[in-house]
Amino acid sequence: MVLLILENTRQETVEHVRNQLARRGVVAEIWDRFPEVVVVPDKNVSRDILESLSGVRRVVPLRVPYPRIARALKETPHVFHVGEVQVGGTFTLIAGPCAAESRDMVLETAHFLAEHGIRLLRGGAYKPRTSPYAFQGEEERALDWLREAADRYGMAVVSEALVPEHLPLMRDRVDMIQIGARNMHNPPLLRAAAHTGKPILLKRGFSATYEEWLLAAEYIALEGNTNILLCERGIRTFERALRFTLDISAVPYLKRETYLPVCVDPSHASGQREMVPALARAALAAGADAVMVEVHPHPEKARSDGPQALDFPLFTHMVDTLNQLLETQQPPLHLP
Ligand code: PEP
Ligand code: MN
Repeated sequence: MVLLILENTRQETVEHVRNQLARRGVVAEIWDRFPEVVVVPDKNVSRDILESLSGVRRVVPLRVPYPRIARALKETPHVFHVGEVQVGGTFTLIAGPCAAESRDMVLETAHFLAEHGIRLLRGGAYKPRTSPYAFQGEEERALDWLREAADRYGMAVVSEALVPEHLPLMRDRVDMIQIGARNMHNPPLLRAAAHTGKPILLKRGFSATYEEWLLAAEYIALEGNTNILLCERGIRTFERALRFTLDISAVPYLKRETYLPVCVDPSHASGQREMVPALARAALAAGADAVMVEVHPHPEKARSDGPQALDFPLFTHMVDTLNQLLETQQPPLHLP
């Protein structure tokens, strides 16, 4: 297919281009959410003719299998809001416990994070554990704790849905739906999550190629929801010393391939809290739009993923070092 990037987004420009194509027997498509783009099926008309149409600024042949999230569709960073928090076009930290374990620990963690300017609170209510004997999450009441804490401290909630049935329970409690690594290859869940209209945090499956991951994002975009934050969380390699291997190349690669913002999760990638601040800095330096980390007031008591949870002092240290790095950027950015 070929994208025609228009000179402006006015309806009459779109119609004018569409009519010029129709006179040549070409049926062009306009995608929701992209008023500045007219999509022409491949091979119908020569590039010379397309370039000569009035109202067209640029002609972009598109060969990727994920056209609705392709970089060529947008020239500016894709920005959206989770609650009131901007994602994309700035650097954002998402933090919170692996699992929302109790009302008290969620409130304590949210209070601490809010004091550090963090406005996106993560926490699992439904946990996709490898073992069926492991803690599976506090379910619906955990969603209540997250909502209460977020409302109290001016934050927005990020939480994972494992099956479409979780989505109605999240409607009034969760601001961003997480699709986990184990569910990246689950089209019915991707579609259902897209239909909530909420932004989606889409983790990479730990054996998924970039193309498979981007095609999962395309499932969501095809349903009309392009508010997607892609999250690299480590892949499985021959290395066994750490839980997974953080694929930092994902950041610049995705930035080239798609306009979607990119997040890095150094907690699940490494599985060891001491590694997390350095990997978070690497993510920021590589151009990530967001970093997501696990934090627990008492990691030694955590019911899941304790070894990778930052305690409060280590979290503070990480924020300080990220801010030092942000200051070296032009123009200087700061965590709030
Ligand atoms: C999580 O973020 O809590 C989680 C389970 O991550 P992943 O899907 O990347 O394993
Ligand atoms: Mn976890």
